[in-house]
Amino acid sequence: RLSERLPVEQDDEFGKLAQVFNQTFARLEESFDRLRRFTSDASHELRTPLTAIRSVGEVGLRKGLDADALREVISSMLEEADRLTKLVDSLLTLSRAESGTLKLRPEPTNLVALVSEVIECLEVLAEEKEQNIALMASQEAVADIDRGTIRQALMNVLDNAIKYSPQGSRISVCVEVSAGEATVEVSDGGPGIAPEHAKKVFDRFYRIDSGRSREVGGTGLGLAIARWAVEVNGGRIELESEPGKGSIFRIVLPVRES
Ligand code: ADP
Repeated sequence: RLSERLPVEQDDEFGKLAQVFNQTFARLEESFDRLRRFTSDASHELRTPLTAIRSVGEVGLRKGLDADALREVISSMLEEADRLTKLVDSLLTLSRAESGTLKLRPEPTNLVALVSEVIECLEVLAEEKEQNIALMASQEAVADIDRGTIRQALMNVLDNAIKYSPQGSRISVCVEVSAGEATVEVSDGGPGIAPEHAKKVFDRFYRIDSGRSREVGGTGLGLAIARWAVEVNGGRIELESEPGKGSIFRIVLPVRES
């Protein structure tokens, strides 16, 4: 551990230098801690699908399995492999985000068109659950944003609305512009999020119900990525929810002054 500190004895330049040194050290220490925690959490998460692949594989090696049983084994292994791929992709995105190596290309982007594109991509998943996604937009909204990162944020939030809401429910996406800001609001009829979880759901690997998250193919990284993507584009992400009354996720972005 980096626990060394310089004693600050005087109020002169040496004292100030020692203070700066100590503060830098403390920041370094904090980032090492964060990195350590992240590596340990990530390893733990990677281990879950790997363990599943192993144990399903062992079942597959048992004697006397018929073709149908074998096919089932292979299909569960593929499902776990998909989970692993999703997790690794998300980890890569976050690590690029952290290191600042992801090159952003802000350009004037029509938000309503982008939102429709994302809805179109996820419509199949909603149809599987007989859910209806309604898009409401009263006016054009053009924001100077990096399309790719905001697309990812919208995908993650809408994907959650579909995943965590019941069969046959309605999801609405509303795009609005006011006071120099564009808001994309995703409302669902899901279980809602209690206040004690509301801030934490944006933390890496935080899940309210990890069994449920796993069941629906979650990685625990979706909202952490969404928050980073929105903030790096100069915006913010907000959550308004009450248990039993659904959730509203709001992505607020600065719009171009016309
Ligand atoms: P996951 O991959 O588990 O969905 P996220 O980071 O996207 O991870 O979300 C974190 C947690 O927040 C989820 O595990 C879930 O418990 C909760 N959550 C996210 N979106 C919703 C929603 N629309 N309704 C209810 N709970 C949600």
